[in-house]
Amino acid sequence: MKTSVGLTKQLQGLDGEHFLHPFTDFGALRKKGSRIITRADGVYIWDSEGNQILDGMSGLWCCNLGYGRQEIVDAVAKQMQELPYYNSFFQCTHPPAIELARRLADIAPEHMNNVFFTGSGSEANDTVVRMVHRYWDLKGQPDKKVIIGRRNGYHGSTIAGASLGGMGFMHKQFIPLPYVEHIQQPYWYAEGGELSPEEFGLQAARELETKINELGVDKVAAFIAEPIQGAGGVIVPPATYWPEIKRICDEYGILLVVDEVIFGFGRTGKMFGSQYYDLKPDLMPFAKGVTNGYQPLGGVMVGDRVAAVLKEDSEDFAHGYTYSGHPVTCAAALATLDILEREQLVAKVADQTGPYLQQRWSELAEHPLVGETRGVGCVGALELVKNKQSRARFDGSSAGDICRDMSIKAGLVMRAVGNTMIIAPPLVLTDDGVDELVDKARKALDLTAKELGV
Ligand SMILES: *Cc1c(COP(=O)(O)O)cnc(C)c1O
Repeated sequence: MKTSVGLTKQLQGLDGEHFLHPFTDFGALRKKGSRIITRADGVYIWDSEGNQILDGMSGLWCCNLGYGRQEIVDAVAKQMQELPYYNSFFQCTHPPAIELARRLADIAPEHMNNVFFTGSGSEANDTVVRMVHRYWDLKGQPDKKVIIGRRNGYHGSTIAGASLGGMGFMHKQFIPLPYVEHIQQPYWYAEGGELSPEEFGLQAARELETKINELGVDKVAAFIAEPIQGAGGVIVPPATYWPEIKRICDEYGILLVVDEVIFGFGRTGKMFGSQYYDLKPDLMPFAKGVTNGYQPLGGVMVGDRVAAVLKEDSEDFAHGYTYSGHPVTCAAALATLDILEREQLVAKVADQTGPYLQQRWSELAEHPLVGETRGVGCVGALELVKNKQSRARFDGSSAGDICRDMSIKAGLVMRAVGNTMIIAPPLVLTDDGVDELVDKARKALDLTAKELGV
């Protein structure tokens, strides 16, 4: 659909009148008018004024195979005709959910052979809380209830998801769950000071040990983290971080929950972020890329030691959603996994797309506005700074907001997290696509520098 400027204005008016968008300053958006996306194909989206924009964020980290995947559309249509809905409560099931459970067990780390389905990543993290608590109850340690997360982590937006996450601006708008605690994030560029990244990685990880000792290990149930923080600003931990976290979880016997909602299904060049960092999680929430974003599906992969305990419970596990294992969403996921495997996209990210993107992205570090670039596989970030040497930042998020708008002007979706710019392009990006992305990002930086007058 190509719409006229007049129609765009009309849609924007109605949008402002009736539609409360997620994570949005309603008043500000109403004044400015929303961007209306009308179609998409491959790695591009088009807005209602006909502008073609390279989608450097894969929608919201989910359209990893790009748009226009007819195979997924067909699988969904076929499932809608055959069995558009049935639940998996009350001892029922259906072929798409069974098949998907098996497929996920095949590709997950070896010790993970069970899955609980949800409708989203946030719901998956609610399920995590329920499973963690039930596990320790069944183990006869009902006092183990505290879950430790990280400041500036993101685990979704339900009460449980937002509590596990460590976003201060979210916490101040509701009452977070009392049994969630947070430790420092491994964000060297912002918080590492004079330490080397390696020293800082160890220090950040050891806060977990300090916190466990402070609370008492008999109270602590689990630690939850993203392999690489996504929404927090694509924060790649120093190499020393994860091995030390692993040591601490093992030594104190607490459950390790690795939130794979962004990094599951290939983004690092491994199927799961846990495999990239050689982790052995007990629980692995996932969502987003599992259906290429085409259908709302999430879930929790459950490691054998937790699954064994849950499966021996003599009571119902009193938890589940109407749409747990919805057949249409499972059909979309099966088609997504077919494509991922047939096109060998995970290996391609590891061998070609990832290394080339990282090489070209790192060239942006020469730009006068850029203090650091970083990334892994198909994600990247860069820090906008006033002073490269001192790592001094611009006030507030002004520079980031300007750069985000300039990026759209240059024909690229880049997201701003404060004054950190981030990308997570579709895994199907070609080398030419990488060149286009980096050229447009540079143009956005030039336009931003001009606007800031630096
Ligand atoms: C997006 C995200 C979630 C929440 O997923 P929703 O489907 O939006 O509920 C949870 N964890 C991480 C790491 C995410 O990036």
